[in-house]
Amino acid sequence: MPKRRTVMTTVSVCTQGSIPFFCPFCGAKALTKMDTVVRRPCEHLVYISCSETPSEPWYLDSRIPSELGDDESYEDAIDRELRGGANLMFILHNPPPAGIEIWVAFHLDDAAGADDDAD
Ligand SMILES: [Zn+2]
Repeated sequence: MPKRRTVMTTVSVCTQGSIPFFCPFCGAKALTKMDTVVRRPCEHLVYISCSETPSEPWYLDSRIPSELGDDESYEDAIDRELRGGANLMFILHNPPPAGIEIWVAFHLDDAAGADDDAD
């Protein structure tokens, strides 16, 4: 059986103003007030950026190269570097007049849930 390839799952959320944002896997806070990355992110957080500065991530996990290939997005790079497990991207839409999207990506490694699978 071929090894399952991780493909990013994307979830779009419309937010009304500034809210904190939490990791879906462990509940740790990732963003405070939508625009500030926490000082010590959890192990699942891999990427935060926004539509105004897509090539200058607010946060990038050390496993993801900061230099991208031609026509490659950070989403592509995350899927390429972090295989086996779940890659999850939240797109937080701020309605006009701001009209900004904030992109927050998390990775849950297959091995992290190995104990749970034993049941
Ligand atoms: Zn987490």
